[in-house]
Amino acid sequence: MSHVRREGNQAHDGAHCARCDAVCCRLTVVLQPEDWIPPHLTTRTEAQLLVMAHDEDGWCVALDGARMNCGIYETRPAVCRRFVMDGPYCNAVRSEYVQERARAIDLTLL
Ligand code: SF4
Repeated sequence: MSHVRREGNQAHDGAHCARCDAVCCRLTVVLQPEDWIPPHLTTRTEAQLLVMAHDEDGWCVALDGARMNCGIYETRPAVCRRFVMDGPYCNAVRSEYVQERARAIDLTLL
């Protein structure tokens, strides 16, 4: 979401976009009427909600995978703008992601 490197907020060791796999960009982003997103980056859910499309690995198709930052940062959806780095939701999804990866590694080692 707002995972582009930012100035400031470096005073603690909490979550920071510069040290994250853009985990928030795996979440479902429901587009709002004020969003202006190119149609090829969007899709509809079964319930007909207009959302950001995901690639086969589960990341938003607008993510610049080489830099792990948003390829449409200046015009990113309202939901992405409101996502708070190192906030409760950010930390919750990061924790879940780490646990998922640990489980996958455990299964690989079995
Ligand atoms: S639009 Fe940008 S900030 Fe929002 S989920 Fe996609 S890549 Fe992340």
